Amino acid sequence: MKQFLLFFLLTCAVYGQSEYPQDYFRHPLDIPLVLAGSFAELRSTHFHGGLDIKTQQREGLKVYTAAEGYVSRIKISEFGYGKALYITHPNGYTTVYGHLQKFSKRLEDFIRECQYEKESFEVEVFPSSEELLVEPNEVIAYSGNTGSSGGPHLHFEIRDNQERPMNPLLFGMQVKDTKAPYVSAVFAYPKDATSTINGKNERVELRLIPKDEGAYEVEKITAYGNIGFGVVSNDKQDLAPNNNGVSNIQTFFNGNKSLEVDFKRFSFDETKHIRRYVDYDYYKSNKSKIQKLFIEQNNPLSLYKDAYDNGFVLVEDSTASVYKIKINDYHKNETWVTIPIEGKPEAIEQDNFIDTSEKTLVYSNKPTTLNSGLITVKFYENTLYDDTYIDFRVNCDTLFLDEDRIPMQKNFYINYDLSNYKSEHQEQLFVARYYGNYWKPYYVSSSRKGDILTAKTKSLGTYALATDTVPPTIRPVNFQDKKWISKYRYLKVKIDDDLSGISKYRATVNGKWILMEYDYKTNTLTHDFNDNIVKDTKNELKIIVTDNVGNSSTFEATFFRK
Ligand SMILES: [Zn+2]
Repeated sequence: MKQFLLFFLLTCAVYGQSEYPQDYFRHPLDIPLVLAGSFAELRSTHFHGGLDIKTQQREGLKVYTAAEGYVSRIKISEFGYGKALYITHPNGYTTVYGHLQKFSKRLEDFIRECQYEKESFEVEVFPSSEELLVEPNEVIAYSGNTGSSGGPHLHFEIRDNQERPMNPLLFGMQVKDTKAPYVSAVFAYPKDATSTINGKNERVELRLIPKDEGAYEVEKITAYGNIGFGVVSNDKQDLAPNNNGVSNIQTFFNGNKSLEVDFKRFSFDETKHIRRYVDYDYYKSNKSKIQKLFIEQNNPLSLYKDAYDNGFVLVEDSTASVYKIKINDYHKNETWVTIPIEGKPEAIEQDNFIDTSEKTLVYSNKPTTLNSGLITVKFYENTLYDDTYIDFRVNCDTLFLDEDRIPMQKNFYINYDLSNYKSEHQEQLFVARYYGNYWKPYYVSSSRKGDILTAKTKSLGTYALATDTVPPTIRPVNFQDKKWISKYRYLKVKIDDDLSGISKYRATVNGKWILMEYDYKTNTLTHDFNDNIVKDTKNELKIIVTDNVGNSSTFEATFFRK
């Protein structure tokens, strides 16, 4: 009886540790779980919403449902998750499977019907809870590389009943990880105009001294006033050499907890604020993401816990203090960074003085409109995080709008008034972004209302008008005009557009719409004859492709099948 009670208590202790169902969800592939990407790892515009599971550089691996449930959503998009499947489970969680090559036969038939009904490759449907039930361990799809995926892998998410993604590892899936997170840089930041770090009132990189695995020291700094810290840290796991994100960061000042960042769960509404979480300016110039261990104004992220004075610490004169950073991966491997601080007021070296006389102040909490010549730039309220002086200059149709170093919470708008603008190709004008000295125009998503051409963007930089007068190109890949192609499974064409890019396409055979899947990475449109839409012997194929300023091309060919 005593033994039983002990067993019972131990079981409760083990399961009591987790508020999430353990071992309810299975790993959706039948190969070992190796991650190309971890939950909440830092991407350029968002925190990663799931796990990127490696598929051994292959496509077509069987994808199993993580548990029983019903298909609650199917979305096919050219970008993003590509072909994606959502399964809702009886316990209220939803699992998501992205970048799929194709669905299982039953689901594939269902979605094809929707595509033919809507005459569109891109579709999104929400089947009812009775329509497409899935059983435990059912193969629901095959892994792929569709959408914005840089190589074959499965993107896998678990969302709670409020659509918030959670770390799937919380549910008991195992990844082999015995290595502690590593730190590649540590920085200190002044909070106020009077704070100093090593005599400077600006971001200062500290000298990092690696000790044993999981332990770093920083050369002693002198500081005064309110300061904060930032860290560049990643985690490697045992079975793959790639960098993943860390799971939890805590900071301590003289033994007292200062801040905790916990990457267990977030909402899609807040994921864009990664631009506030990392040092955006540093990221744009160094491609490395400093995680700021303090909370500035207009930062609504829910990842913070126990923030004392928003993570800033006050260093007083003639004091000796220690600031520590503790970084954990999901598997409780732990890394410590120790920063000794001597409190000492110092005169500020003025080498970083910024001349704001030529710049324009843009407010964070009220709208700002900048105008010169034919260009008007509109920042609505809460576009910037801080009131910021930015460089605004206009030369004819070229807009010099500072550099992409200031994070935006949302889009701002660049309006061109074309009523007096002389161009023989008025209709084919678009707003283009230019990078560095490389004078190639990049199309910026824009719309036209009368004489006003409006582009929306989150990036400061250089913009100008550009013209695209060349229609898209369309060429057959695996067939020729007037030939027999009876044995072919697929019909493939390449489509391309140089400047403004492809906006839409439409393919018909003998006047009937046919599904052609578009892969932007290979510029390929593919029709599968197994759709059984093409049944005639003589077939007139017609494909119309339109670019983003409305130039369009038509391709016609005849082929025969029996
Ligand atoms: Zn992913």
